[in-house]
Amino acid sequence: MKTVIFGGSFNPFHLGHLKLIDEVAKAVEPDRLILVPAHIPPHKSAEELMSDADRLEMCRLGISGRPGTEVSDFEIRGGGKSYTVYTLEYFHSLWPQDELYFAMGSDMLINFLSWFRPERIMELATLVCNCRDEADRSAIRSAKSRIEAKGGRCILTNCDPLVCSSTDIRAKIERGEPITELVPRAVSEYIEKRGLYRER
Ligand code: ATP
Repeated sequence: MKTVIFGGSFNPFHLGHLKLIDEVAKAVEPDRLILVPAHIPPHKSAEELMSDADRLEMCRLGISGRPGTEVSDFEIRGGGKSYTVYTLEYFHSLWPQDELYFAMGSDMLINFLSWFRPERIMELATLVCNCRDEADRSAIRSAKSRIEAKGGRCILTNCDPLVCSSTDIRAKIERGEPITELVPRAVSEYIEKRGLYRER
């Protein structure tokens, strides 16, 4: 089986995440894709992070109705900083026969070799990167070459980027601007109902 692991803060889940899921699905044709929200993301500030329960629920709402796509609470349950290498070790031990892929956007691929234990991650999984912004194109091509030179496998999806980030969405909510074009409808209804991101 081909299994794609897709980690992130999902603070909140947005249409850029869905675009990545769709493009990775086209490129890899996986049997399953598993979203794994981080408890504490190691590469980002956790200051404005909503609760584990809210982010898990937004992920579930964001992917509902997509067969083969699931949410795992593995990193949330683990507590502390969520290191990708341990997540991949876990899924590898769960399904040792599976071919694992790790999905990410261009900002992550560009810095991948400075992550915690990138060599082990490259042994465990093929990296799949979806471009977030046209301006990243040449940087992701050179990141792919550097990764391959170290023995890693890296696939770049072929798509028009959807420029969208959780940071922009949080700022829009704070300014009272609409976010309905940037997040799935069920997610915007949840944010509204729970009053998330209104106060800092
Ligand atoms: P923030 O703005 O809070 O830093 P983010 O929008 O980057 O958040 P994350 O949840 O941190 O969202 O991202 C999870 C993964 O999804 C990362 O690998 C990231 O590169 C990727 N990603 C996020 N937005 C996009 C997008 N618009 N297109 C492609 N990939 C994306």
